[in-house]
Amino acid sequence: MERIWIAGPCAAESHDQLLDTAAQIAEQAQEKSITLNYFRAGAWKVRSAPDSFAGAGDAALPWLQEVQNTYHIPVCVEILNAKHVELCAKHGIHVVWVGARTSVNPVEVQKIADAVKHSGFTVMVKNPMIPDLKLWIGNIERFLKADIQNVMAIHRGFPDVRENIYRNSPYWNIPIELKVRMPELPILCDPSHLCGKVEWIPEVAQLAMNYGFNGLMIECHPNPGQALSDADQQMLPSDWADMISHLDLRNDSADLELIKQRSTLENIDNQISTLLYQRMKMVDEIAEIKRKNHISVVQPQQWQQVVKRYTKHPEDPSYQTFIEHFLELLHQSSIERQK
Ligand code: PEP
Ligand code: MN
Repeated sequence: MERIWIAGPCAAESHDQLLDTAAQIAEQAQEKSITLNYFRAGAWKVRSAPDSFAGAGDAALPWLQEVQNTYHIPVCVEILNAKHVELCAKHGIHVVWVGARTSVNPVEVQKIADAVKHSGFTVMVKNPMIPDLKLWIGNIERFLKADIQNVMAIHRGFPDVRENIYRNSPYWNIPIELKVRMPELPILCDPSHLCGKVEWIPEVAQLAMNYGFNGLMIECHPNPGQALSDADQQMLPSDWADMISHLDLRNDSADLELIKQRSTLENIDNQISTLLYQRMKMVDEIAEIKRKNHISVVQPQQWQQVVKRYTKHPEDPSYQTFIEHFLELLHQSSIERQK
């Protein structure tokens, strides 16, 4: 399977930032023999807070055109409305994506689909902010019905009321189910927005490859610390190239049923590790309260009640043994931490 690699900054900040990022990515790609399929940048950023940097806007299009002409890499941008489609076409940009915030609104998505109808554009559709596969599929179908030949999906994770170790909860089963329902549709992963932190990205990128994703969209910035948006999740171009060249891409024959089960298991592991981490943080707070009030760290009766509540599995003796050991370990670790 040929993979699709997309890299570029979160936002188009300035002419020099775009050209500099493109130069570094192109150089790194050449050095490591990586075929960069598309250079990405957000000209119009949809931000939650009103004072956040919202991209350079229309002014970014000639800069992006310059990137395209100088490095011969097709550029892709996020579009929010029909007017953006027109502006892109005017500047020779024919690859666009619909972002997660637009993707929640099928009325807006339909307007964009009408605007790109029969245009020969390539359109990527990010998952909506809510974990609703039907909505995601509906958006994809709007572009297929608009005679767009090249439609792709991008999995970027889902914001969650529950805290997660990642910026967005992965719910891997959702894009995998999309693969089951639309086997011909290329599905990419965007580990940058999924993770929200640069250090998580390589392992999540590898996980996506193991699950048979068709490519990756990665945010890169020549100076991530100075980035005007998503500073924590943008990679240096050299780190990006290093990561791509170290990916293990041997999963081509992996069975979809097995991938489905594994990805569901990964969701569970993700939740367990998130909860355990939260629990340890909670323990620290409780320790502080106990210290202030001169209460002893160990309160055996209370813990015995907990054990009693969660070890009622006589029908499954091996689980019973496991959960007893596990709770014991949890208890001991909490006590050590409080001390
Ligand atoms: C982006 O890719 O720049 C972006 C804003 O992503 P999302 O719509 O997934 O948040
Ligand atoms: Mn971003």
